[in-house]
Amino acid sequence: MSKTNSILEMYDYESTIGIEVHVQLRTKSKIFCSCLNTVTNEPNSNICPVCTGYPGSLPVLNKEVINKAILAGIATNCSISHLSQFDRKHYFYPDLPKGFQITQGDKPICTNGYVEIKREDGSTKKIRIMRIHIEEDAGKNIHSANSNESFVDLNRAGTPLLEIVTEPDIANSFEAKAYLKALRNIVLYLNISSANMEDGAFRADTNISIKKKSAKELGTRCELKNINSFKYIGDATDYEIQRQVEALESGEKIVQQTRLWDTQKKQTLPMRSKEEAADYRYFQEPDLPLIEVGTELVERIASNMPELPGNKLQRLMNDYGLSEYEADILVDNQAIAQYFEDAITAFKNKQIINWVLRDVLGYLKEEKLTLAEFKVTPEILAQIIELLDTGKINSKAAREVFETIAKSGGNPQDIVKEKGLEQIGSADELEKIVADIIAANPGQVEQFKAGKDRILGFFVGMAMKETKGKGNPKLIQELVKKHLAK
Ligand SMILES: [Zn+2]
Repeated sequence: MSKTNSILEMYDYESTIGIEVHVQLRTKSKIFCSCLNTVTNEPNSNICPVCTGYPGSLPVLNKEVINKAILAGIATNCSISHLSQFDRKHYFYPDLPKGFQITQGDKPICTNGYVEIKREDGSTKKIRIMRIHIEEDAGKNIHSANSNESFVDLNRAGTPLLEIVTEPDIANSFEAKAYLKALRNIVLYLNISSANMEDGAFRADTNISIKKKSAKELGTRCELKNINSFKYIGDATDYEIQRQVEALESGEKIVQQTRLWDTQKKQTLPMRSKEEAADYRYFQEPDLPLIEVGTELVERIASNMPELPGNKLQRLMNDYGLSEYEADILVDNQAIAQYFEDAITAFKNKQIINWVLRDVLGYLKEEKLTLAEFKVTPEILAQIIELLDTGKINSKAAREVFETIAKSGGNPQDIVKEKGLEQIGSADELEKIVADIIAANPGQVEQFKAGKDRILGFFVGMAMKETKGKGNPKLIQELVKKHLAK
């Protein structure tokens, strides 16, 4: 049980967590204009009258956004609304020159879905999705570090977003992280966003409240905003739960607030208080039509659904006999999963998965390489394992071939030849070596016969040394046993 769980238990509280995620969609152009939807470094160079909100400019909806929202809705088991609408959400902020954001209010495009997560004890849990709606992103305010000035860059204004909102179903930081990882994986598999957290393409706001277990109503919630890594979200959630328990236990009231995570101090700090719910004066966007989605479109998008993480997990376990643990690692890393599947297609062998998880991932991590830079292609790995499996080289030599190619490239057959790594495989050759060793060490033979089983290892070691490590250790062991039994 985590530290936070025990604090909650001790004082008879429970925590309730809901998460809102903003996903920046990957589309050719922005949501309501023809500006390209790309990251542009030169401030205010990728803008037009529509995304900067000039009076009189008219938005035109990018259909690609609707299709991607429907895709996300189906993948998270939502109902797709046949009729949904855009609304204006009014607020003033310098990075929103229109004075309102075009979003969806009470008629969102997707509702009532769920994402399945794995809990700490290994059981599964459905986190309900309340809604998914479409909206436009705002620009960015840039505060100068060395002068008292602020600037506005509107390049990001009009970037299409999906906001995915859960019911308050999440019980602790472990589940919060599990949910975010599962959702991010779905988004990545759908290929609708880079989902890069550091760039803000996948941003999570976490709402946390606690209450006495016996209380019927939810407690006052605080929102953690703009935390850009799973680890920090977990740490901040734990901190916030503890802070709220301590505040309530010492008689304080929880103030509804937006809080930030200070990565240096490792604590949440208040950003702004929301004493009352803001009145955004939502009303239907008059410049955009209602969004009508026919059954046919939903069916067409559903039939083109790419493989989702849950299906992939099952398939990897069924098709290749992987354990859930092994399959899970691959599901979380699409590039490694592809590498594995390419390698096992080239040579179907049980050992491939161990080599991928231990040697390939280990090497990439140690050398800080990406798969694209890695010289041992899946086909080369398959060849190395085939040489090993057919007894042409032993596992020590296989590692050497792997390391050599990883460092400087080449092909396995050539390296085996160049370095003289062929296993001394013929039984005749090995038999002679073993017989000689046994004949030369009568003392050890005596000890073995007197019951010292460990002496077996001595003979195998001697034979391996004699073959300069190129003998087949399994075969040698059999031969040693055979000769000692004489
Ligand atoms: Zn524009």
